[in-house]
Amino acid sequence: VSYLVWGWGATEADAPKPADLEAMAPYVAEVLGFPAQAPELPRQLATGTDPDRARHSLGRSYGDVVRGMRAEIPRLVDRVARPRDEAEITALLEAAAATGAALIPFGGGTSVVGGVTPPPDERPVWSLDLGRLAGVAEVDATSRAARVMAGTTGPALEDALRPQGLTARFFPQSFERSTVGGWVATRAAGHYATRLQHIDDLVESVRAVTSAGVWQSRRLPASGAGPSPDRMLLGSEGTLGVITETWLRLQDRPVHRASTVLLAPSFAVGCEAVRLLVQSGLAPATVRLVDGREAAVSGALPAGAQTTEAVLVVGAESAHAPVDAELAAAVTVLRDAGLREPDGAGEAGRAWGSGFTRAPYLRDSLVLLGVLTETFETATTWDRLDALVASVTAAVEGALARVCGGGRVTCRLTHAYPDGAAPYFTVLAPARRGSEIAQWAEVKAAASGALADAGGTITHHHAVGRDHVPWYAAQRPDVFALALAAVKREIDPAGVLNPGVLLPDPLAPPR
Ligand SMILES: Cc1cc2nc3c(=O)[nH]c(=O)nc-3n(C[C@H](O)[C@H](O)[C@H](O)COP(=O)(O)OP(=O)(O)OC[C@H]3O[C@@H](n4cnc5c(N)ncnc54)[C@H](O)[C@@H]3O)c2cc1C
Repeated sequence: VSYLVWGWGATEADAPKPADLEAMAPYVAEVLGFPAQAPELPRQLATGTDPDRARHSLGRSYGDVVRGMRAEIPRLVDRVARPRDEAEITALLEAAAATGAALIPFGGGTSVVGGVTPPPDERPVWSLDLGRLAGVAEVDATSRAARVMAGTTGPALEDALRPQGLTARFFPQSFERSTVGGWVATRAAGHYATRLQHIDDLVESVRAVTSAGVWQSRRLPASGAGPSPDRMLLGSEGTLGVITETWLRLQDRPVHRASTVLLAPSFAVGCEAVRLLVQSGLAPATVRLVDGREAAVSGALPAGAQTTEAVLVVGAESAHAPVDAELAAAVTVLRDAGLREPDGAGEAGRAWGSGFTRAPYLRDSLVLLGVLTETFETATTWDRLDALVASVTAAVEGALARVCGGGRVTCRLTHAYPDGAAPYFTVLAPARRGSEIAQWAEVKAAASGALADAGGTITHHHAVGRDHVPWYAAQRPDVFALALAAVKREIDPAGVLNPGVLLPDPLAPPR
């Protein structure tokens, strides 16, 4: 039971095996530069603890994985409700208001920012699992859009669309476990670097149940009628209403693909090349710049390349026409910017792709081997990018030396826009067992402070949750905060929905 509470896999069979962990240990020392620890055995939940309640009390941040693995979950939700329809959601909202309970919408529970974590107080807490409101309810093939229930997971969505030759073409790294409602609630981003990056771009209309009634926007390809109702629900993180369904814009399934890997002499030169590429008007679907040390971990560093170099995976795809010319045009821009095509490019590209999908499973193993492993991300304009990457890297390296006695931080660009990009940082460090959550909190505070100082956003796509509230509060305009709080008071007057997420919780005990 325990792995299903803390791990990424869908069955116990996905749990890391002792033999695999033993085999991985030397690799950790070799690639990360610090030794793995003896594999830890996940603990069983205390007798009588309901695993379903335990699972619904955890997201999937590093801290959540550690808490789940040790069966040390600070607070369990008191109840898991699985409404079958909107009437049951309305009844739950009313019952929660009447009893003073907090209600936390739960999609796939893959939040990495404390979005599904119970508030640390005495209120009863109910998890509202959208799992029964799942499936594709309707497809409008003419407009190429589908009405999708909130609890639909990524694979279920694609399975339903595939027979019609359609795809939502939205693939966050958490695709396997996260849900459409969760994507909308958190403004998730898929793995494509250019065009239609965020779920925002795919949403045609949203339907949500609130304490003030149903919030349903009209299906429109675009509209200039006032502030967008969809934009207000996008990123509301379960604090305003329970999203029950959304119309998503679809694509024909791509059949033409081409990709390659280039090497930049440094990460900064790679960044400059990506800027020139996206500003040239070319927008290949995949543009991932990965620093050499990070590429070495996933096997994506071409043979003979140095870890001081940076790897750029670039790929184009289309449902309608061959993309070789598009890729060739992109490669020309990148070559002119100082990048070179190494031998073994195809192999490196494939290694990067499979590493991307396996990463959440690999993380489970690293945690058992005593490795502190976490990521954080941001976005900034091109004029500030190099300085941000340098100052954040320095701040985190300093914090790691202080807190963990070593470790490393690496960077990749996950998304590229004509006016800026989204750097994504991976931290791997020796954890001190028993203190790793406090260790990460200290490193994360250094990272978040450095991001704010460098003018980045506290999150490009991981959302605000509980963990980012202070930085989000500093980032957003004060008048906007007033407006958001007023909306919350109006449509969630009892403050039932996800207290402490996005907005400070008026009932929270002082820290
Ligand atoms: C390994 C890993 C990789 C990840 N990769 C990505 C990535 O590539 N891109 C990305 O954007 N994110 C990524 N994430 C973060 C996470 O997967 C996203 O935030 C995702 O959108 C959450 O979806 P979920 O269904 O799991 O939502 P949950 O984690 O269940 O909930 C997230 C938040 O949304 C609220 N919520 C959920 N469903 C609803 C609903 N129906 N109505 C109202 N509120 C709701 C919850 O209350 C909570 O505040 C990753 C996480 C992990 C662990």
